[in-house]
Order: sequence, then C-alpha cells, then structure tokens
Amino acid sequence: MIPAEFAYYTPTSLDEALALLGQYGDDAKLLAGGHSLLPALKLRLTAIGHLIDLGRINDLAYIREEKGKVCLGARTTHYEVETSALLQQQCPLLAECAGHIGDVQVRNRGTIGGSLAHADPAADYPAAMLALEAEIQAVSTGGKRSLKAEEFFVDMLTTALQPGEILTEVRVPAHAAHTGSAYLKVPQPASGFAVVGVAALVTLDAQGQCATVRVGITGAATKAFRADATEAALTGRLPDDTMLTQAAAQATNGIETSGDIFASAEYRAHLARVYTKRALAKAVERAKPR
Ligand SMILES: Cc1cc2nc3c(=O)[nH]c(=O)nc-3n(C[C@H](O)[C@H](O)[C@H](O)COP(=O)(O)OP(=O)(O)OC[C@H]3O[C@@H](n4cnc5c(N)ncnc54)[C@H](O)[C@@H]3O)c2cc1C
Repeated sequence: MIPAEFAYYTPTSLDEALALLGQYGDDAKLLAGGHSLLPALKLRLTAIGHLIDLGRINDLAYIREEKGKVCLGARTTHYEVETSALLQQQCPLLAECAGHIGDVQVRNRGTIGGSLAHADPAADYPAAMLALEAEIQAVSTGGKRSLKAEEFFVDMLTTALQPGEILTEVRVPAHAAHTGSAYLKVPQPASGFAVVGVAALVTLDAQGQCATVRVGITGAATKAFRADATEAALTGRLPDDTMLTQAAAQATNGIETSGDIFASAEYRAHLARVYTKRALAKAVERAKPR
C-alpha cells in the first residue's frame, strides 16, 4: 500500500529537528531507520502530515567511551553496535544482543534509538537495556533528561518519552571485572523478532559466588521486564546447576505472559524459564577467569 500524503523534512541539526517537532506536534513523526515506521505508514496503521528524517543529523551517530560508560548516539545502527570493537571489549552483552536482530539488511538500516522509541514488546534491545541498567537520554526544547531503562519501557509500543522529545543517546556501563554475560533468544521464524529473549549478566566474587545477577527478558509479556525473583535467588550463591535451575524457575514470577498465534502464554513462560537458565549458565561460564 502507499502511505497517506505527508511533508518530508531533512534537518541537519538536533535544534532544527526539535523546532520542527515543536511546530507540528502530534501531526509529526521522526524517521530513523524506517524499519518499523515505514511499514506502519504503508499499512496506514499510522498517518501523519509531517515526517522529520533524522538521517542527516550526523551528531547522533557515534559510539564512544565516557567516564566508564559506553555512549551510543540514537542513530547508531544495529550493525554498528554488533561490530563495535569498543562494545565487544567493554560491554559485550549489547554487541551480542544487536547481532540477534532480524537479518543483515535490518541491522544495516535499523537504529538503536528507533528500536527503543518504538518499544516493540518482541524487540531484542530492551532485555539488554534492563540487564545493563542503561540510561536513556532525551532532549526537547525544554532541556535534557536522563531516564533509567526500567522507567523508560512503559507498556506495549509505549515509552516514557514525552511529546516533543527526541531520544538522543543510550549509556551503558562497562562490564565490571569477573563479569560474564549472554543474550539468547527464540526467534520468530519469519521476522526474527523474539518469541522470548533473555539477557543475563553475572559478576562473580573471589569465592566464585554471584555478587551481581541481572536478567532482562523480552518477548514474553507486553513489555520487557527484570526477572527480580531469579536475581534475588542467585545473588550470594554458588551458581551450580541446581541453583541455576531453581533460580531460573522463578523467571516469570509475578508476570502475566502473552500468548498469540506463535506461542501460547504458557509456552512463553516455559521458554523464559528455560532460556533464563541457559543464558545464566553461559554468563557464569564467561565470567570465570580462564
Ligand atoms: C523484517 C524485519 C525484521 C525485524 N527483526 C527484528 C528483530 O529480530 N529484533 C528487533 O529487535 N527488531 C527487529 N526489527 C525492527 C528493527 O530493529 C527496527 O530497526 C526498529 O524497530 C526500529 O528502528 P528504526 O531505526 O528503523 O526506527 P523507525 O522505524 O524509523 O522509527 C520507529 C519509531 O521510533 C520513533 N523514533 C525513531 N527515532 C527516534 C528518536 N531518536 N527519538 C524519538 N523517537 C524516535 C519513530 O518516530 C517511530 O515512531 C525488524 C524489522 C523488520 C522490518
């Protein structure tokens, strides 16, 4: 189908984009990689009068280190995240997660900012964002604010971004010493989106016990969530097979899992538990000094 008619803008600075967004309000949308927005426009699930393309704002595409954090501009593509030497060294969980998104064409066009702002419940990044306790920066004409990943994802296709705000940057901490991580997913066979995806991060202490455990799960519910009970059960414990099984069995405690034509709610809960154990086991293995 052909989208409804809209005016198209190509600002070259963030200020210009913010001014356009302020001017056209609800009748405007930002365009990043277009891999979620263009299908929605073509199917006429969305119709807008003004499309503001961020593609020429070069200041929004970077990956750099700042005070122990890796900072990524919103326009950074999934492929750039996947192949970044800095991320592979400092924060391999995010690079691994990006490598699981769609196929190479999707990874070449899609951006981290577009994916997070879209907040698809089956997107991969939210699991890693939660496990990494990432910070998400948003800018409006009123100023800048920083949101914790936990507060950013509000519900299906809904974030804490306010009208007039542009997501500009994502900040993830460098992994601490003796930390291992893993992202594992069950992909939907046609699209590659996560039926369930689990991001696990484990830091071991000198005795080999879990000092920090963080697990983010996507695909299983209307929004990604932290497996709080699993994290609590494993923290301070030796991560042997029995303990990992017991902790992973609590992965969906308190969560209403979603069902659709691909997987029932019960099957998604089962997958979440199984993949939580596998992701944790892999993270522990990677955390052990070689
Ligand atoms: C065939 C296919 C397979 C896919 N498989 C997967 C997969 O396996 N896993 C996965 O996670 N994703 C998958 N995706 C989605 C893909 O990752 C998209 O890139 C992503 O969802 C949207 O990013 P984008 O840059 O294309 O954003 P766009 O489509 O351009 O924008 C998406 C939304 O975000 C808004 N937006 C964009 N940038 C900003 C910003 N900086 N600030 C505020 N709002 C903004 C737009 O207005 C729009 O509402 C797939 C997509 C396709 C087409």
